[in-house]
Amino acid sequence: MAQTAPSPAVPSATELRAKLNISEDFRSAFDHGPKPISSQLYIVMHDTETDTDATGVVNSWAASGNLVAAHFVVNKDGSIIQCVPLDRIAHHAGFGDTGHNEHFGTTDESRDDKAGTQPIGSWASDYGMNSYSIGIEMVHISTHGEEYPEAQLVAVDQLIAYIDAYFAAEGQTTPSKIIDHKAWRSGNSDTSPEFATYLKNLQTTRTHDGYTR
Ligand SMILES: [Zn+2]
Repeated sequence: MAQTAPSPAVPSATELRAKLNISEDFRSAFDHGPKPISSQLYIVMHDTETDTDATGVVNSWAASGNLVAAHFVVNKDGSIIQCVPLDRIAHHAGFGDTGHNEHFGTTDESRDDKAGTQPIGSWASDYGMNSYSIGIEMVHISTHGEEYPEAQLVAVDQLIAYIDAYFAAEGQTTPSKIIDHKAWRSGNSDTSPEFATYLKNLQTTRTHDGYTR
């Protein structure tokens, strides 16, 4: 009898994470409360807006005293620092336009301790996105007009694949929607114009170049 070829196994979250070059730098000051699976709705993409590498970015967050951080910072060479566990809230998206909690379905701010938070004006009073999302920072300056290196974009693809697999295993039925920071808060610079095509591809195929691998 002919043997049927085994179908390729879907990689587990653990296998996908093992493919990434992630180092953990969890700090209690970056953790603002629980994020149950039912509230994991978004992945928010950011530019760091500094030439400093991920280590420098994390250290500057810690030194700032405003308890801001993202879950992940992706270096230009594809190496990654994780600062906050996937099931905890980080202050990466900050305040959004008034009305955006309603628009994005992120109205419950009660799980967020809001430590370190300073209001920025009545035009941007909504804070819910932090409680419903994962934040990914890419080391990049939006005003320099530079392309994102391939190694960084591939790492972002693989990181999103890992995040999707992790939450699917936890019971998430619809993959997180991918947005960028300026979609949440008007006037923000990130992500840059150079990322627009990649963002569109990630939103549809979850790979930066639009091809399914
Ligand atoms: Zn940002």
